[in-house]
Amino acid sequence: MTGEAMQTTAWLTGAGLGFTFAFGLVIGSFLNVVIHRLPLGQSIVKPGSHCPSCNTAIKPWDNVPVLSYLWLGGRCRQCRVRISPRYPAVELLTGCVFAAIAWRFGASPATPVLMLFAAGLIAAALIDLDHRIIPDEISLGGLALGLALVPAVQAGSGGPLADALGVAWGGALVGGGVLWSVAFLHARLSAAMGREFEHWPGEGETYPTPGSLDYWIWFPGMGFGDIKLLAMIGAFLGPWGVLQTIIAASLAGIVMGVGWALATRSWSSPFGFGPAIALGALLVVLVPFFPSL
Ligand SMILES: [Zn+2]
Repeated sequence: MTGEAMQTTAWLTGAGLGFTFAFGLVIGSFLNVVIHRLPLGQSIVKPGSHCPSCNTAIKPWDNVPVLSYLWLGGRCRQCRVRISPRYPAVELLTGCVFAAIAWRFGASPATPVLMLFAAGLIAAALIDLDHRIIPDEISLGGLALGLALVPAVQAGSGGPLADALGVAWGGALVGGGVLWSVAFLHARLSAAMGREFEHWPGEGETYPTPGSLDYWIWFPGMGFGDIKLLAMIGAFLGPWGVLQTIIAASLAGIVMGVGWALATRSWSSPFGFGPAIALGALLVVLVPFFPSL
């Protein structure tokens, strides 16, 4: 390649990364709406954004990702109430993750699929942080999408469809199965040792028996949401990718817990396992140390 051609390529790469970053900011702005409204059962389309304090509709020019926050000084234009810095932070995070995916996977069919995947992970992590739940719309919706979309994209780029289906469906089974086994065994051991948990079983309730559904899907300390989220991750990343996610998530969970303890001098970490799982999956996608994709 001549020097001039290399310069052109570098310029195109830079422009492409800039575009994917800006695209990520816009998607991040949408994710803020999803994170806020989905757990409350509200429509994520209507009505448009409005100030949670004075209810004034936010004008399009005051709703530009990150920039509006900066030029409004982090306050509502009407009532001057403080707007959480988490909104621009989620936008920046999504922009950076999208640019990093484009950087690593280039102009391939994997890039938009992984952007969709990452957007689901970011929304799941923050909803879990706020409400300790992961909505089925994200975990099961993402699982269905991954099971259909990932094999279709791989077959579309020349791979055998049967293999691609096997990887996606096998990944979902491994992802959900590993975590379910851990949670199930932990629940049975805890019950056998007579351990008491705040919500498991509820006050005055007896432990579930094999005849009841709760015996199979109701676990202390780990929500079924985490299991569904890992099934979704398996559909996108395959069996090997989801196993690496579990390892990365365990390490991320320890780091987050210790970091929280050091910052607040309290061991009562507010994190469920969901944010660590999402972070682990993003690391597996983005860090070349994980040779999964
Ligand atoms: Zn306001």
